[in-house]
Amino acid sequence: MSNYKKPVPIPSVESKPYWTGLKEGRLLIPKCGECGNFWFPPSLHCPHCNAANFSWEPSSGRGKVFSYVVFHRVYHPAFSEEVPYVVALIELEEGPRLISNLVEIKPDDVQCEMPVSVVFEKIANNMTLPKFRPAPLY
Ligand SMILES: [Zn+2]
Repeated sequence: MSNYKKPVPIPSVESKPYWTGLKEGRLLIPKCGECGNFWFPPSLHCPHCNAANFSWEPSSGRGKVFSYVVFHRVYHPAFSEEVPYVVALIELEEGPRLISNLVEIKPDDVQCEMPVSVVFEKIANNMTLPKFRPAPLY
């Protein structure tokens, strides 16, 4: 953890509750108090109806691989021992999509539509990242 060399996210006003939730082992996403839609990435207004009335609700952490790429090239030295690795667009069962890594699976075994579930990777005392691993069908 202390020797983590990759870039670390910097929480913004909009995303602070998201990062706080991850530290507590919860994947929180904004839910509109007017139209009921979830969205991601975080913003202070609902992208569906523009309401500013929303709450942070826990996602089930379940979803599916919407799309993915396999990185073979090292774009940052801290990733040199990790290639090839998978960057995936995960579609949560609540609807929003987020970009993350797939873990516990070989890049060649990844398929679109495969079910995944969130795991929490603590990278520093005040920072935890959501990653996704293959999940049984549900
Ligand atoms: Zn809305």
